[in-house]
Amino acid sequence: MTPPPATVTRFAPSPTGNLHVGNIRTALHNSLWAEKHGGRFLLRIDDTDAARSEERFVDAIRADLAWLGLSPDAEVRQSERFALYQARFDALVATGRIYPAYESAQELDLKRKIQLGRGLPPVYDRAALALSDADRARLAADGVAPHWRFRLDHASPIEWDDRVRGPQRFDPATMSDPVVRRADGSWLYMLPSAIDDVEMGVTDVVRGEDHVSNTALQLQMFEAMGAAPPRFAHAALLTGAEGKLSKRLGSLGVDHFREQGIEPQAVVALLARLGTSDPVEPFATRAPLVEGFDFARFGRAPARFDEGELAQLSARIVHQLPFDRVADRLPAGMGAAEWDAVRPNLTRVAEAADWWQVIEGPIEAPAAADDRDFLIQAADEAGRINWIADPWHVLTGALKQATGRKGKPLFLPLRRALTGLDHGPDMAQLLPLIGRERAVARLRRAAEA
Ligand code: GLU
Repeated sequence: MTPPPATVTRFAPSPTGNLHVGNIRTALHNSLWAEKHGGRFLLRIDDTDAARSEERFVDAIRADLAWLGLSPDAEVRQSERFALYQARFDALVATGRIYPAYESAQELDLKRKIQLGRGLPPVYDRAALALSDADRARLAADGVAPHWRFRLDHASPIEWDDRVRGPQRFDPATMSDPVVRRADGSWLYMLPSAIDDVEMGVTDVVRGEDHVSNTALQLQMFEAMGAAPPRFAHAALLTGAEGKLSKRLGSLGVDHFREQGIEPQAVVALLARLGTSDPVEPFATRAPLVEGFDFARFGRAPARFDEGELAQLSARIVHQLPFDRVADRLPAGMGAAEWDAVRPNLTRVAEAADWWQVIEGPIEAPAAADDRDFLIQAADEAGRINWIADPWHVLTGALKQATGRKGKPLFLPLRRALTGLDHGPDMAQLLPLIGRERAVARLRRAAEA
């Protein structure tokens, strides 16, 4: 028995704009599914539309995927594959599965209106199939160039078992023969995509449910090309936090997340689970998400994308990030000990700089008139104690004994004098980083303020 082909997925954005959160989710699903099956994840740039495709968006797509940690195993561009499409097109014209049609947009529009007026579905009537060779010759002589339609086979229903949606069934007689090529020779999305899926050996087409009816049409294209169709997974769409299909989602992308200080891994952790029956968890690495990823876990209801949830998840991921994953984003000189001390207090990595400032100084401490004597005592004590092991507990222990203070009156004046703030990282971790010399100076200065 031959083993089943290794999994191949593809993410196929059109470079006509920036990736938004819905595209990012599709890219991620493709990447996770391929990795889970030890397969390949391909990037296909759908740039057949020369007028709307822009190189800067191709660059942005690559950069966004890199930021998210999604690395395609290969990249292909549709604009470099026109010869391939032409060959397949010619073959389908030769077998009569693609035919020329001559109606203008206005004529088609009128036909649709008439059908709708009669209460009929607006399906293309295939008038072009009834043309004789002589008719076509006359149209050509009049300078009318045809566009091209794929002739659907009406004989049997189109069926597939969708990995998310389960069994699907479409009646091809209720669908118009799709236009696959315009009169100027340019390609529409539908056929080149199916050709590429065959040529690239794609085993799993993973995309949003807005493509479900395209799948029905493309399944017949695979059949017409004599190719085994891939499996399909159509995830339900995302909605905004307000529960509706939101305009805002269409503009939320990597640039926005980066500006907000969101960790890429938070985007990954959220979008890998959103819409599934599994809880969203702050996984700081990809492995558990790959392992648990399964289209069978996805529901059919739209999933709600909430920026607040993303921000919270990101903070929880920041709390777990080891120093080597953030080192290049920290102020010069900040080391692992400093990172570990301040990490639990951050919602964003960039805030580490604020705590680095607190450690390094100078700091601005609030006036502490009522605690003057206590702070002088603390400064003396800090100069004296064994600083090696755990200076904060040694210092506060000694001060407690000497002054009888405990709780807030003991700790708060010290924290304020040493950091300038009422709240912050665990002082037991922070004080050794501030160091004896600076600590003594800060306590004295606070006492004199
Ligand atoms: N370029 C198409 C899109 O962005 C690709 C759809 C597909 O995955 O086949 O919608």
